[in-house]
Amino acid sequence: MDPQLNLDLTGGEDLDQLWNRLLKALTRQIGRDAVQSWLEAVRMVELTADSFTLAVASGTAREWIQKRYCRLIETAAEAELGRRLEMRLVVRRPSRNESAEAAPLPAAPLRPQAVDPSFPTLPLHGDCLFDNFVVGDSNRVAAGAARAVAEAPARAFNPLFIYGGVGLGKTHLLHAIGNAVRQREPRVRLAYISGESFTTHFINSLRERRQDQFRRAHRTVDLWIVDDVQFIADKATTRQEFFHTFNDLFLANRQIIMAADRTPRELRLLEDRLRTRMESGLMVEVGAPDLETRISILRRKVELEGAAVPDEVIRQIACGITSSVRLLQGALIRVLALASLQHREIDAELTAHALEPYSGEGGIERLGQEAVLRAVCDFFQIEESDLTGPRRDRRTVVARQVAMHLVRELMGRSLVDIGQMFGGKSHSTVLYALGRLQQTMKEDGDLEQAVNTLLLRLKS
Ligand code: ADP
Ligand code: MG
Repeated sequence: MDPQLNLDLTGGEDLDQLWNRLLKALTRQIGRDAVQSWLEAVRMVELTADSFTLAVASGTAREWIQKRYCRLIETAAEAELGRRLEMRLVVRRPSRNESAEAAPLPAAPLRPQAVDPSFPTLPLHGDCLFDNFVVGDSNRVAAGAARAVAEAPARAFNPLFIYGGVGLGKTHLLHAIGNAVRQREPRVRLAYISGESFTTHFINSLRERRQDQFRRAHRTVDLWIVDDVQFIADKATTRQEFFHTFNDLFLANRQIIMAADRTPRELRLLEDRLRTRMESGLMVEVGAPDLETRISILRRKVELEGAAVPDEVIRQIACGITSSVRLLQGALIRVLALASLQHREIDAELTAHALEPYSGEGGIERLGQEAVLRAVCDFFQIEESDLTGPRRDRRTVVARQVAMHLVRELMGRSLVDIGQMFGGKSHSTVLYALGRLQQTMKEDGDLEQAVNTLLLRLKS
């Protein structure tokens, strides 16, 4: 840590100068147009020893910059300052003449107080609230249950288990519960974790012989919120620890809330005892939103962005994207971004163009599939054609198994489909390959970790 850095650069002037230098460097890399469209209106508002904060004009700009330019900006900052800094983005309050009503700044992420700082829980997103969760037939029961739990933890439904496909609002609801309880009772002991973070921390605690601390961190909370339970590693010790944690909290009448992409029954890794307990609480599904709900979600988002989008365009997007709220919002942002970059009006033609990658038979599927195959090939340093070809050397074989596993986990493809994808193999060959991979991962922790990392990266 270098406290000097703070002292040198506290004045707004210096931050402006620094940001201008970064803009110059970025212009060389991404061109004037992109910089003008997205980065020129940005201001640097804070610089600390390990991070810098940029204030941006809207939620759209924040998402876009985060997605597209985070790496580049961090790298430019590193080149300028000689150290790796984390970029943070806040939405700046519009000045009076920009908007009559000042939009509130998004709440700072609430960091659940860590019971033990060496096993930190994940931060709650301040902008995932019940108030901005659009309720429709597909999620009414889940949203109602989540609200009830937030209002009466450990009294309404315990445990609460939310399941459903990717991008349908499970994580949003978990954060909304955490935020609501925390707002009412700031001192509540709350842990928000994921199956992945539980696994990693537990394995670390074993290695570092700090199981006691790990246990204390998890078993002394009032609200235990576990996202993506499907990522709890399929290892006996981790599963057992998970079971005991669950059991302790359950018997102590603490509120337990979980989310996964499938039901407890389908989560093979849950022991029967745990599964039965889980099923004794309330299980609710979030489904894909119907057209009306999709339109409401888009309207809400447009309003939030302060953008003007014609009703026909909203309908056009809502009709084009049906399977996930995340994709739906991404599509809207794509439309807004395209209009802004090309200085064009938001009309049917522009929208059709923006939606192209999502369209066509299985368009989005294909996009996802390509991303998976590319990621695997990058990782194993092989050619994409080898994945479907006849090569049988160990590296190619493992890469192929990993690709099959990821396609199955991420896209829920059937064994038959996967066989087709990988050069016309039979479904039993695929099943065998997946089984082999599970076995290899059990023996090779590095491979297991690599696969989980790929999975997480692709998921996001
Ligand atoms: P999941 O955890 O089910 O994969 P998320 O909770 O991450 O999905 O949702 C994906 C995105 O869609 C998030 O930005 C979330 O805020 C948003 N979202 C999902 N459902 C709704 C909804 N009903 N109303 C408003 N936003 C939603
Ligand atoms: Mg989620």
